Amino acid sequence: MGWVTDHAPTRAELDSCVQCGLCLPACPTFRLTGKETFSPRGRLMAMSAVATGVAAVDDSFAAIMDSCLQCRACEVVCPSLVPFGRAMEGARTELTAQLPSQQRKARHLMVGRVLASPALLKLATIGVSVGQRLRIGKVLPNTLRSGFAGIRPIKPVAATPGSVHPALGERVGRVGFLTGCVMDVWFSEVHAASIALLQRAGYDVVIPPAQTCCGALAAHDGDMKDATKLAQKNVVAFANVDVIVVDSAGCGAHMKEYGNFTKGGEAFSKRVFDINELVAIAVESGRIAASAIERGDVAVQDPCHLRHAQRIVDQPRSILRAAGYNPVEIDPDGRCCGAAGIYSLLQPNLSRQLGTAKADQVRASNANVVASANPGCEMQLRSYLGSGYQVVHPVELLWRAVQEDDR
Ligand code: SF4
Ligand code: SF4
Repeated sequence: MGWVTDHAPTRAELDSCVQCGLCLPACPTFRLTGKETFSPRGRLMAMSAVATGVAAVDDSFAAIMDSCLQCRACEVVCPSLVPFGRAMEGARTELTAQLPSQQRKARHLMVGRVLASPALLKLATIGVSVGQRLRIGKVLPNTLRSGFAGIRPIKPVAATPGSVHPALGERVGRVGFLTGCVMDVWFSEVHAASIALLQRAGYDVVIPPAQTCCGALAAHDGDMKDATKLAQKNVVAFANVDVIVVDSAGCGAHMKEYGNFTKGGEAFSKRVFDINELVAIAVESGRIAASAIERGDVAVQDPCHLRHAQRIVDQPRSILRAAGYNPVEIDPDGRCCGAAGIYSLLQPNLSRQLGTAKADQVRASNANVVASANPGCEMQLRSYLGSGYQVVHPVELLWRAVQEDDR
C-alpha cells in the first residue's frame, strides 16, 4: 500500500542515505543488539522498502521503528546529513495511520490528552505520590517501575499562567517562558531557578496563559494531529514575545522544528532558545555571577535532545563552572540514557540496559551530583542511581550558588 499520509518520509529524505554505515557505532540500539534492523541504516532501508512498495506497514515494520530511541545520535555523525529524526517521525505517523492498535490508541490518549491537560496530569501525579508513599512501586511490572520511582512529588507551581516576573537591574529584553507539561508539575524547582536567573540576566519573564504542552511526545509517537494542534496553539500563545525560553531539552528541540508542523512554525522556531543558551550568554557577559568557591565535582549527562538535536554542549558546562563546580565528563559519545520519552514503558529491556550503563558511568566518575537538562533523563537517572545521588538541572546549581552569595 505504501505511504498514506502527508507526513511520511519523503523520497529525498530516504535517498539522502548512501548506506555507508558510519552511523552504526553511534546508534545505541545497534550497539546493544548488533542487528542491522536496530540501526539507522536498517531503519532507513525498511522505510525505503515501504516507499517503493516492496514491504508493507505491518507488525515487523512497527517493531523496527518502535525500537528506535529517536535520540538522533546518528544525525550528528552522518556525512550525508540524513534528517533521520524527521524521517522517523514520518514513519511513526504512518504506523499510527495504518496500524491503529489498541495499544497505540491508549498511548495517544495518554500523550495527547493527559499531558496536554495540567489538571489531569496533576491528578495522575497525586495518585503516583500516594503510591510512592505506600511503596507500591515494588509490586508494579518492570515497565512501570522505573518511571514511577523517578517522579518527583508536586511542588508549588513556580510559573503561574499569566504572571510577569520583572527584570532585575538593567533590562535587556522580554522573554516568554514555556511551562510545559511534566516540567510544570514535577520540576517546578527548575522553573523557579530558570525564571530567577533570567530576571538576574535582565529579562522580563512572561508566562503566556494560553500556552500548552509543546507536542514533542505526540510527534515522536506519530500523532501528527495532536502535535500540529499543540504547535498551532503555542505559536499563537507566544505571538507577543520576541524570544521563547524552554528549560526542557526535549521540548526545546521539538519547538525548534515547529516548521514541520504548522504554518508560521519556522519563524517561531528561530525565536526559541534553551535556557542553557541564554544563561551561558549572561554568565559570559557578567550579568550573572557567583563567587569563586570550589563546590566539587558534577557528572555531566548530555540529554540527546540537547546534544544531538540542538547541538548544545558547551553551555551547561560553562554554567556549572560559573556556579563553582568542576564538570566531569562521563560519556564522550553522549549515548542515550534510555528514557527517550515513553521508551522506558514501551521497550523496557533496551531502556533498562541503557539506564544501567548510564548509572554505571556516573558511579565511575565518583561524583554524587549529576547535571542533566531534560526531565525524562533526570527521572531515568534518579531511578537507576537510587539514593545517595542528587540529579539536578545545571541552572538549579547556578541559582543555588547565586542565592548563597545573596545571604
Ligand atoms: S544514515 Fe548517514 S551515516 Fe548512516 S548509513 Fe545513511 S548516509 Fe551513512
Ligand atoms: S535515533 Fe538513535 S536509536 Fe534511532 S537510529 Fe538514530 S542513533 Fe539509533
